[in-house]
Amino acid sequence: MDKISLDRIQLAHPKVRAELTAILEQAEKALTGEWKPRLTWTLRTFQEQNDLFAQGRTRPGRVVTWARGGDSWHNYGLAVDICLVHISGKMVSFDSVADFDKDGVADWIEVVKIFKSFGWEWGGDWAKPKTDLPHFQKTFGLSIAQAKAKITPKQDYISI
Ligand SMILES: [Zn+2]
Repeated sequence: MDKISLDRIQLAHPKVRAELTAILEQAEKALTGEWKPRLTWTLRTFQEQNDLFAQGRTRPGRVVTWARGGDSWHNYGLAVDICLVHISGKMVSFDSVADFDKDGVADWIEVVKIFKSFGWEWGGDWAKPKTDLPHFQKTFGLSIAQAKAKITPKQDYISI
C-alpha cells in the first residue's frame, strides 16, 4: 500500500479510515499498469480551508475551492482528493481519461467506481463550474450546516 496515502488516511475521520484503506487496496489492485492511486488530501483544517479559499480571490493563483472554512467536508475529515502516481514515485497525473493499464476503462474512472461502490459521492458528478474530479466525500446524511453545528472546540472529529 502507498505509505503516503496510509498516513493521510490516519488524518481522516475515524469512521472512514478502515473503509478508505479498503478502497485504496481495491484500487491498487484494479490498476494493473504503472500508475497507482494516491490520496493527496484528507483532513483540512478550517484555517487551511480559508487560506485555500483566498487563492485566486484575494491571493494570487487560480481558484481551487468553492468552500470557506467549515463549508468543505474536508474540514471534518470526510472528504478526500486523489491523484495517480507513477510506480517510479516521480510523476503524478490528474488525467481522468487515460487508460494507462489498457483494460478499456480509464484508470481514474476505475478508482471512481470503487469509491462509489462504498457509497462515496464523487465531485466529478457535480455540475460545472463546481465539477471536482479528484474529490470524494461521505456525508452520512448530514448537511454541512449540521456538521458545523456538531463541531466542538475539544473534539477533533464530529460525532456521527
Ligand atoms: Zn476535495
